This record gives sequence, structure tokens and C-alpha cells, in this order.
Amino acid sequence: MIAEIVAIGTELLMGQILDTDAQYLSRRLQSLGISVYYHQTVGDNPQRMRDTIALALSRSDIVITTGGLGPTQDDISKEIAAQLLGLEMRFDEASWQAIRGYFDRLGRECPENNRRQAMFAEGATILPNGCGTAPGCMIEQGGKVVVQLPGPPHEMAAMFDGQVYPRLAEMTGGCIASRYIRTYGIGESHLAQLCAKWIEHETGGVTAAPYCSLGEAQLRITARGESEREALEKIEPVVKEVKALLGDYVYAVLPTSEGSMEEAAGRALTEKGLTVATAESCTGGLVAARLVNYPGISSALHEAHVTYANEAKVKYCGVKEETLARHGAVSEEMAREMAEGLRARSGADIAVATTGIAGPGGGTETKPVGLVYVACADRDGVCVQKLQLTGSRERIRNLSALRALDMIRRAAIRA
Ligand code: AMP
Ligand code: MG
Repeated sequence: MIAEIVAIGTELLMGQILDTDAQYLSRRLQSLGISVYYHQTVGDNPQRMRDTIALALSRSDIVITTGGLGPTQDDISKEIAAQLLGLEMRFDEASWQAIRGYFDRLGRECPENNRRQAMFAEGATILPNGCGTAPGCMIEQGGKVVVQLPGPPHEMAAMFDGQVYPRLAEMTGGCIASRYIRTYGIGESHLAQLCAKWIEHETGGVTAAPYCSLGEAQLRITARGESEREALEKIEPVVKEVKALLGDYVYAVLPTSEGSMEEAAGRALTEKGLTVATAESCTGGLVAARLVNYPGISSALHEAHVTYANEAKVKYCGVKEETLARHGAVSEEMAREMAEGLRARSGADIAVATTGIAGPGGGTETKPVGLVYVACADRDGVCVQKLQLTGSRERIRNLSALRALDMIRRAAIRA
């Protein structure tokens, strides 16, 4: 089965809102083994909306629209889909009562034009909206399935997951499960090369695909089974083999492509009962802020400093004035002294330090923008890594913080 997503809303075309609904739905459909061949976006214009939905119906089995279910004159997506399928619109009393109830609970008067939200194509399955006023609907007609969902992402996701996903799963038969092997320190093409045997050939119903996101590469392993359990059983041996092959490049194996390095670092620290301290120059607190994203970090995070000025590097890390004068604030020696000094002063098991040139200005021939040193000190000594990054200030800072988090993770696992 082939699905197509039609995002409706002029605000999307004007760039005010990013179409995150399509991203969400595509991921969910993929987990059902339903291929998405097209995304379309159209404004709240009747003629163009009609053309867009007609095109989708002409080439896809499942058409999912988002948005355009509001109470105003420009919210016409249901009428247009019904017209295209040759269906009349009918008023649904139960939906109308639910909409009125929603307003009652908010202590507000329900405007009469909200009645439009209770109109549906004849024969449609109505999808009540637990988080807002606009109910959605699902229409099956002549081998096509049209699903119409509200635009607000939390309403859309709740309705899709609760009411549409199970119906689509029934239609497709069976279940798809995936595991995402998250890696750091290895490039996407290197990963693809090492894992070619799984990527290029389906092995025992298991497929693998590489992805990259900022600073990291991941491998998705997917299988289909009668049940999720059966699909996972197929995946498991491949995950094991890939993990053995990639070693400590792998920092997590997760059921979604979300989840992060700070979780891996935070978990490694807390599992071992270790403490960590940070002294950040160019990352300006990003490392600490990301560690704090991990809910259990309070037992591990000892102290965090933003040591931007040289005086602060002396005060909190005890770096030598002489080192500053001889090598400068952005240098391997400085990073080393920051991490070593901080570890000694704070008493933390692991101390990390960052110093670098995030740009856009401030670079020189010998110390260009993107030159960053990240140091990590533990009881075995101190390790300094030199990064030569490119891109925006934000990107350089994020990649530096990611490296620092990975160094914390590795130090904690080693300890
Ligand atoms: P609507 O259902 O058309 O009334 O949409 C209401 C609101 O939902 C919009 O103003 C956006 O803030 C949000 N929204 C609509 N479509 C999308 C989309 N495709 N992705 C993310 N947010 C959306
Ligand atoms: Mg809209």
C-alpha cells in the first residue's frame, strides 16, 4: 500500500510553521510497512486544495490530510474530500455534543459556526478529538482510504496513534518493528561500508538503512512479523552482530531515532555512581545543559562552570598564567590544564573542558574558526581531542558539546 500526506494550511506555505505533522506521520507509516511516496503542501484555497487531493487520490491508496478542520470558512478539507469521492455531507449530533462539551469544560460559549466541525462525508468513520474541538474522519471508498486529521501536532498525533494506526495495522496485516543503532565517532559512509552486508541485502526478512544527523550516524534495522515480538526476534541477532562489529562507536540502541548522547552519558555515569564536573569556554554551558536534560543527573553532576574569561580559567581550574601566555586560551595545553585542574579542585571523578573558536570572527591562520579542544580527565589521566569543525557558530558549539558528552560517556564506561 502506498500512502501520501497532504498538509493543508497557508501558514505552512508562508514559512510560519514547519510541517512536522508530515514527518511524524511518515515515521509512523514506515513502522507499519506502508510506503510514503509523496508529501504535498497546499494553502487554504478551495481550487488548489481540490487539485492537490485529487492528485493524491489518483496515485496513492491511502491519503492522509492534516489541517483545515477548523470552524471557519477556509477550513474546507472535509467538504472537498467528500466531493471528490462523490459523497454527501451529513451532520453528526454526537460530534456536535462533544464539541459543545469541550467549550463547556473551558467555560466558554460554543460559537454556532463550530457546527461545521460536526459535518462528515456519509459513511465516514468519525474520529473523536480528545485534545481539541475538531474531530477527524476516515473514509474507505472504492479501494482508497482517506484520513483527515487536525493540524495541531499533539491533536494529530493522539488521534492518529489512538484511532488510525490500529486500523491501518489491521489492513496491512502484521507488524513492523525497528531498532536504531546510534553511533558516534564514525562517519555515515564508513558505517555503511562496514554494514554493507545488511544494507545491500535483506537477510532473513531484516533490512538495514543508514542515516546521519548532526555529528552522528545511525543504522535502522527493521523486520516484519506477525506480531511486534516476532519482528523483534528477527531483529535481535542482527543488532547483536552490528554491535559487536562497531564496538564502542555504539552509544545506544533505541526503538526510535530520537534519544540522545546525554542519556547515554547520564546513564553511564549514574550506573557507575560517578561524578562529573565541567568547565566550558566555547560551548558556554551547552555540555552542562545537555547533561541536565537527563532526569537522573543530580547524583552525578557535581559542578559546572562557564569559564569564558582567562581569569575564570585560573580561578576555577587553576590553569597557569604562564600556559595562557605561552599557548593562548585555545590550545591543547590549556584544555588539558582546565580538565586536570577542575578535576583536582572539584573532587569529581571525571572533569571535561572545552576551549575553541566558535566564530564567525576571531579566527587566525594558525587558529582558524572551528578549532576546538575538548579535554577529559579521569583517574587514569587526561585525554585531549582536537577538533577542526566547519559551519555556523551554533553548529560548532553543538558538535563540540557532543564530543564532550561522548568523552564523558566513554570515561564512565571505562571507569
Ligand atoms: P488547523 O487544523 O488547520 O486549524 O491547524 C491549526 C494549527 O495547527 C496551525 O495554525 C498550526 O499551528 C498547526 N499545524 C497545522 N498543520 C500543521 C503541520 N502540517 N505541521 C505542524 N503544525 C501544523
Ligand atoms: Mg488551518
